[in-house]
Amino acid sequence: FQGFIGACIDIHDRKMAEAALQDSEKRLLELMDSQKRFVADAAHELRNPLTAIQGNMDLLVRFKNIPEEEKRDIIRDVQKEANRLSRLVHDMLQLARGDAGAALHEDHLELHEVLLEAFRDIERMSPKHTLKLEGLCPTELIGDADRLKQVGIILLENAVKYTPPGGEITLSLNCEADQAVIRVKDNGMGISAEDLPRVFERFFRADRSRYRGEDPGGTGLGLPIARWIVEGHGGEIHLESEPGVGTTAVVRLPISLEE
Ligand code: ADP
Repeated sequence: FQGFIGACIDIHDRKMAEAALQDSEKRLLELMDSQKRFVADAAHELRNPLTAIQGNMDLLVRFKNIPEEEKRDIIRDVQKEANRLSRLVHDMLQLARGDAGAALHEDHLELHEVLLEAFRDIERMSPKHTLKLEGLCPTELIGDADRLKQVGIILLENAVKYTPPGGEITLSLNCEADQAVIRVKDNGMGISAEDLPRVFERFFRADRSRYRGEDPGGTGLGLPIARWIVEGHGGEIHLESEPGVGTTAVVRLPISLEE
């Protein structure tokens, strides 16, 4: 009887081991797939500004008699595309470091101060929008001050980018039980119900034909970076949005003073 039980346990263990192996194999394949997709998307995104730079440089080399003003426009275009390349590479490197398991710092920080710094930085660069603070609840926690400031900057920058001039952006920080809740609210163009579930995908950018003015030229990597940072702090981030009404980004961070 004992032998029979032993055999049953053996079969059960083997089945469990097989299932675990299949599971990790599946996860590994999924991971490889997403890495392949990332490389293909990255190559595609890098190619656009590079092609534009090459085209403009060709023009400058081939045609000697371009009027000064036109020449200046071409050079400005090259500069814009080079800046875009540099932003893309910077953001991609940061995500790659995150994928490689880069550690977050464990600073004893005051979240309201960190957010205030982000707010002041963006306020200075956004003269065409009204930026408001709505109660920053004093919050101490252990976390990575630079990275959390970056989350604030990404969300505020998005709010400015996707809100027409004259629009209003509000930052708030509330203390709810054992959570700090950051909200960045704008009254901008909003996101369609179809696009909303995709905004945290790498390189995803909602339909660009909606921009009335110039394309604000994002990389589609801001929200994935913000999510990596927030989840690294044990938190959660999501967007709520209504087209034509506005968007609110909500970040929930556990308040813990334990390292
Ligand atoms: P990007 O660099 O393009 O801004 P993100 O990853 O930060 O990339 O955001 C992904 C996409 O989500 C944006 O391209 C934009 O279409 C949409 N989005 C993000 N924040 C907002 C917002 N506040 N209002 C409207 N659309 C937004």
